[in-house]
This record gives sequence, C-alpha cells and structure tokens, in this order.
Amino acid sequence: MPKVLFAPPALWEEYRPALLAAFDGMGVDLVQEAEPASVDYIIYAPSAPLQNFTPYTRCKAVLSLWAGVERIVGNPTLTQALCRMVDPALTEGMVEWVVGHVLRHHLGMDRHIVNPGRVWDPTCPPLARERPVAMLGMGELGRAAARALVALNFPVTGWSRTEKTVGGIPCLHGEDGLEAALRGAEIVVTLLPKTAGTENLLDARRLAMLPKGAVILNPGRGAVIDDDALLAALDAGHIGHATLDVFRIEPLPGDHPYWAHPRVTVTPHIAADTRPRSSAHVIAENIRRGEAGMPLLHLVDRARGY
Ligand code: NAP
Repeated sequence: MPKVLFAPPALWEEYRPALLAAFDGMGVDLVQEAEPASVDYIIYAPSAPLQNFTPYTRCKAVLSLWAGVERIVGNPTLTQALCRMVDPALTEGMVEWVVGHVLRHHLGMDRHIVNPGRVWDPTCPPLARERPVAMLGMGELGRAAARALVALNFPVTGWSRTEKTVGGIPCLHGEDGLEAALRGAEIVVTLLPKTAGTENLLDARRLAMLPKGAVILNPGRGAVIDDDALLAALDAGHIGHATLDVFRIEPLPGDHPYWAHPRVTVTPHIAADTRPRSSAHVIAENIRRGEAGMPLLHLVDRARGY
C-alpha cells in the first residue's frame, strides 16, 4: 500500500475529502505525518514546511499542487522526480481570466462602467479580428487561452522557447520571434514560468517594441516583468494599461506603486487556482502510474526549471 504524505498542513481539510475520493479503490495510505523513509509519494505546495527531501529515501515522486514550481525546482535536496500540476479546472479558470481581461480592454469597458461625468461617447471598439494579441508562453495555459481568444476572432500570435505548431495559431520562438510578436501586438498576455531565462523578459527595450497604447496582462509570474521599466512605460503613456495578477512579492506590499497607478489593475493571484476535486484525480493518476511502473505525467525538467 503506497504511503502518500500530504505536506501542506493548511490545505489538508480542503484536499483530504477530494483525495480520498480520487484514491477510492487504490489502497493508498494518505497521511499528514510519517517516518520519512516510509513515504512513497509527497503531495507538495509552497506553503509546506517540508524543505529537506533527503530523508525521503524511497519516495518515487513529489507531486506539486501548483503549476508553477519555481519555489521547489532548485531545492538541492530534491533528487526525487518532481511533477507539476496540470489541472483541467485550473486551465479553465485561467482561460476565463484571460478572456475576461482581454475583453475588458478590447471593448474599453472601463469608459462606461466608471463614468462619473455621464459622458455619452458613442465610439465603437474595433472588432476582435482587428485587435492582435501576443501570447508569450504556449504551454498548457497559454495554448488554452490562445485557442479561446482565436475562437472569438482575435488574431493571436504565440511565442515560446521552442518551435511548435498549434493548429491555426502562428507560433514564433527565439529573440526575433519575440520582437515580431511584440511589434504586432495591441494586447500581450504572458503565461511564462519564472526561470532564469524569463526573468525581466519584458524590460524597457522590449516594452518599447510594443505599439503605443498596448495593454499588458500578466497572469504568469511577476518576475517576467521589469517593474521599474513597466512603470516608466506607463508613465510615459507608451503602455496603455497593465493588468497584473502575479508579483515578485505577494501579497503585493501596500506601498507598491502598482496599487496607486491609475492605469494598473491588480488582481491578487487569483487568475487560476488549483481545484481540489479535479487536481486530486491528476495526483491519483500519477500515483497509479508510479505504482504500475509507467512514466509519470507532467514531469518537471530540472535543467529547464519548468
Ligand atoms: P507550461 O505548460 O510549462 O508552459 C510554459 C510555456 O512557457 C511553454 O510554452 C514554454 O516554452 C514557455 N517558456 C518557458 N521558458 C521560456 C523562455 N525562456 N522563452 C520563451 N518561452 C519560454 O506552463 P503552464 O502550465 O502553461 O503555466 C505557465 C505559468 O503560469 C506557470 O509556470 C505559472 O507560473 C503560471 N500560473 C499562474 C497562475 C495564476 O493563478 N496566476 C496559475 C497557474 C499557473 P516551450 O513550450 O517551448 O517549452
């Protein structure tokens, strides 16, 4: 019977029923505490106090409840396989957040929702087909969000580290690809992980490639944006608005200039949460695979960092 250690105590009450239901019939021993050498799998989240994986000598895999793994991937004691969360409900949530915020800016909804002067401005927005979007990051979440935007007729250009084909969506890669994606975009969505290769990716030079008035949506990771450069580009009127869900420090400190900036919208890292019911099935499937000697799903590449 595989012993599964649930490492983040604060999430136990929320996840326990979902995990027990997903493990039904699998003969899994789900515990909150165990002698490390007896543990076969660890369910992990960044809030878990567990930092030293060395004593978990027979553990086959650490199963992250989070999609982003930057807070564990570099842990030098972690020699076990690391799987990140790819949760269909999390993806659904991210698609809704991205589509909602893209439509807000595309339709200029703020002009009518916040209109204390009762201004009758009959200017019609362009059609979606006339509003190019760049999707930086074409992984699980970027692809799903890009497809949803394409279904609404937005011309989406994807950009990622490696060359790829995603039906009907032009996909670019490399430095030249990034420049082309940015130069043509009125709305940029970043769904990149935090790695050495993505930190400060949107710096002053690259922000300057965007057309004047472009909007940035960042539900990926805060460190992908150079905050000072973004604030300067907003102040200069080059960037029209930034809607940010993720930050270098979370919660975003109360005195951070993003809070007070009239053209920044802060959402508190709520773009997409892992949902216990659907994610429990992902965890269960990986344990089933591990026990059957099959390859694990959603393995993190340590060298790449995501
Ligand atoms: P994923 O499937 O691993 O996809 C990551 C994408 O980023 C891939 O397309 C990858 O390129 C690309 N990429 C990575 N490094 C790059 C680089 N140096 N240059 C260009 N492209 C690069 O991840 P995901 O599931 O879509 O999630 C993306 C991120 O969203 C997570 O890492 C997490 O930080 C964030 N997230 C946020 C929330 C929230 O609530 N705000 C929720 C969940 C996740 P390749 O395809 O070529 O490998």
